[in-house]
Amino acid sequence: MGIDILSMLPEEIEKDFAELGEPKYRAGQVFSWLHKGVRDFDKMTNISKPLREKLKERYSLHEPKILSKQVSEVDGTIKYLWELKDGNAVETVVMSYEYGNTVCVSCQVGCRQGCAFCASTIGGLVRSLEPSEILDEVLYSQLDSGKHISNIVLMGIGEPLDNFDNVMRFLELVNHPKGMNIGMRHISLSTCGITERFDDLADRDLQITVAVSLHAPDDETRSRLMPANRGRGVEQLIESCKRYYERTGRRISFEYAMIDGVNDTEYHAKLLVKRALAVGAHVNLIPLNHVEEREFKPSTPGHMKAFIKILEDAGVNYTVRRKLGSDVDASCGQLRRKIQKIK
Ligand code: SAH
Repeated sequence: MGIDILSMLPEEIEKDFAELGEPKYRAGQVFSWLHKGVRDFDKMTNISKPLREKLKERYSLHEPKILSKQVSEVDGTIKYLWELKDGNAVETVVMSYEYGNTVCVSCQVGCRQGCAFCASTIGGLVRSLEPSEILDEVLYSQLDSGKHISNIVLMGIGEPLDNFDNVMRFLELVNHPKGMNIGMRHISLSTCGITERFDDLADRDLQITVAVSLHAPDDETRSRLMPANRGRGVEQLIESCKRYYERTGRRISFEYAMIDGVNDTEYHAKLLVKRALAVGAHVNLIPLNHVEEREFKPSTPGHMKAFIKILEDAGVNYTVRRKLGSDVDASCGQLRRKIQKIK
């Protein structure tokens, strides 16, 4: 296997090309081709034939294949299942809003976080994705759908902070002016809040939006739902969120999937108010998506209403997330499980 050139930044390709005795500007040319979706060196028509041969020998390229594509009849949401070079598969969803098209990408095959309500984690972690593989989810979704992608959410399969270096590199690649040039402010990263890595993310001082999957404001409930909480707990997570906000000036949002009888009581709402106000966080309420293998049910409309009233009365910023693509298994991990029959 050759070097994964699609995971490299132009300056790294330049360095590599210098060793091959090629001028710097060639690196920029190759980078541009790659980030337009060209996956065959012979199609890079401004590159000389002898150089193309050298490139073929040194680097490897892969074109993701569509294993399945579902288009929602309700709202046009597209759900792709891509086959990776080793036969594994990842899900990508393209959603259309008034302000543009958003792609939801996966960053791992499977997940090791073990959240009790989530389908992505049922078979555990298979492997992390390379930066090039995450980039191709965005690029190939745009090429195949013909929809210009303006926003990215890292909310598919996998935990971004558990694949930290590759996710950071993906952000640099997709943000690059010579590549897709998607602005950091148009990118959101969702994390279960691995406290140990949160400060590393703050240190990068990126202008991305960070969503923390809180799902419960107290240790008892959160540790039951999310094993990632069992280490440092909610208090320390909240401290990390505060530091993140102070460092980057970017407001955090809390994801909160409403689960019947588990995290939707008055007690939870009041403590959530305290957590949200401490961080100045925006709360995203999500009616739980029912996953076949999981026992949890979404909160009843009555409980949701009462919960929302407590947030509203306390002046917490919140939104109730609109469900898109409910007819195309658009909840994380569901499509991969169905097609690949993961045990
Ligand atoms: N690992 C990251 C991103 C993955 S999932 C994280 O934990 O944030 C994106 C969001 O969907 C997370 O907030 C996750 O907790 C939530 N989610 C997972 N399963 C869900 C379900 N069945 N119903 C509603 N939200 C779910």
